[in-house]
Amino acid sequence: MKTKTALNPTIFVIFGGTGDLNKRKLAPALYNLFIEGYMPDKFAVIGTGRTEFTDDSYKVALEDAVNQFSRSGKVKKDKWDNFASTMHYCPTDFAQPKTFENLKAAVEKYQKEYGSGTQVIFYLAVAPNFFPIIAECLQKYKLTQDEDNSRIVIEKPFGHDLESAKELNTLLSTIFTEKQIYRIDHYLGKETVQNMMAFRFANALFEPLWNRSYIDHVQISVTEQLGVGDRGGYYEGSGALRDMIQNHLLQLLCLVGMEAPINFDADEIRNRKVEVLRAMRPFSAEDIRFHTVRGQYSKGWVEGKEVPGYRQEKGVDAHSNTETFAAVKFHIDNWRWQGIPFYLRTGKRLNQTSSLITIQFRDVPHQIFSSGVTENWQQNRLVISIQPEMSIRMQVQAKRPGLDMVLNPVDMVFDYKGTYEGDTPEAYETLLLDAMMGDQTLFMRGDQVEAAWELVMPILNTWESKKSINFPNYPADSWGPEEAEALIARDGFHWFNLPLKNKD
Ligand code: NAP
Repeated sequence: MKTKTALNPTIFVIFGGTGDLNKRKLAPALYNLFIEGYMPDKFAVIGTGRTEFTDDSYKVALEDAVNQFSRSGKVKKDKWDNFASTMHYCPTDFAQPKTFENLKAAVEKYQKEYGSGTQVIFYLAVAPNFFPIIAECLQKYKLTQDEDNSRIVIEKPFGHDLESAKELNTLLSTIFTEKQIYRIDHYLGKETVQNMMAFRFANALFEPLWNRSYIDHVQISVTEQLGVGDRGGYYEGSGALRDMIQNHLLQLLCLVGMEAPINFDADEIRNRKVEVLRAMRPFSAEDIRFHTVRGQYSKGWVEGKEVPGYRQEKGVDAHSNTETFAAVKFHIDNWRWQGIPFYLRTGKRLNQTSSLITIQFRDVPHQIFSSGVTENWQQNRLVISIQPEMSIRMQVQAKRPGLDMVLNPVDMVFDYKGTYEGDTPEAYETLLLDAMMGDQTLFMRGDQVEAAWELVMPILNTWESKKSINFPNYPADSWGPEEAEALIARDGFHWFNLPLKNKD
């Protein structure tokens, strides 16, 4: 668990040190950890890439990036100079493994200077096809042998399907021990997501109700207003199910569905999460027909501007079968959740950007109020808003003020902004600090990743082998295809959306 404790000297090696992820997320996160006093007294950041940089020009490029993307705003010159004083650029080309010699020399220089116990974190912020070659080069140049002090952080996507995920796990396990491998799912670093565990297991109130006797269904909805933009080429080989449901949404489902851990130990928590995936009902052909919906956006209008359909985006096949929307009804076959549907939905070019977990409770067993009193009746809901609003709200019935007895749903809200002062850390700050602390709680274990792939493979295989006949099937700025409404309406429910403050 995180507190400001003295950390061993740490060398961060960032493969993809010239890339978008480093500019937008990693460099700002490391800088913010530094100014807030969380970095070790001795640390170094070594960026790699093929682009030509000197140490000085690299520092300037990253300063610009941090100025642009950091939550703390523009850097303070003296702080930045301090932070960047041990920043180094090491040109490395995966097509020429010999270039790892320079990297090894740079790492060893700092190791010698900082003394024994110096930890080295290799962060793979590169396309997944480079993961194997990097891991092999690290082994070849003997940079991974110290099990206690060398770690590898792997970005998503971890595998393209079950087979490739297994292959990557197998390869990594020949080079690293599991305790050295940190598979990132940045959703798990988000404040509200971490708070799920605090809410569930630090309060006596929720756990007795957290089961099939009191909950009638769960929704997890991650929607985006943006389309694929420049990432069409990448997205064509991915799609909504792979890009979002297999990892982020299923991880959120695990946090809702898991049994209470006996302690906050990383493996204990990861065991409880993997149990959920193992208890999930596999998909038959009939389930895929009735419990899944795929969609693809057509052109339309967003805030008065015309936007292209998915098939017109750069890098996208004009007859693409890739889904930009997916909705799936899952079941967890165990005592706690038997019969309770978990609806997961995600998509691009939708009406809102938001990530919500909605837990809808069962109705009261006996209604004592007449229909006139209860015309706005709404079963209790717990709504966890992960982004953009960070809040947890309990929706309950209350009497509307006045002489008449009329009931209204009202929200009891825990809003981060109203409750705490200051910014909350970005997910990457949490995750980078955890990697330095050797805490794997918020990272995925190999068996977890494989269990999630195993669950979605039948859907992926069916969608890939059967071309959709009705793509594109939802316009920009909508809530997705009508079939997604029907999927949940058949069970008597509807998708819940939080009204956005800036929208009507
Ligand atoms: P990117 O902007 O395309 O950056 C790719 C990086 O890889 C560059 O630094 C590039 O360096 C380096 N590279 C490419 N080929 C190389 C080679 N042969 N030898 C050495 N270095 C090479 O990609 P990105 O958006 O940062 O994404 C990186 C990874 O993070 C991907 O796996 C992505 O899925 C994941 N991710 C990204 C984001 C995001 O917001 N960007 C979010 C979540 C996950 P040079 O160009 O200098 O050679």
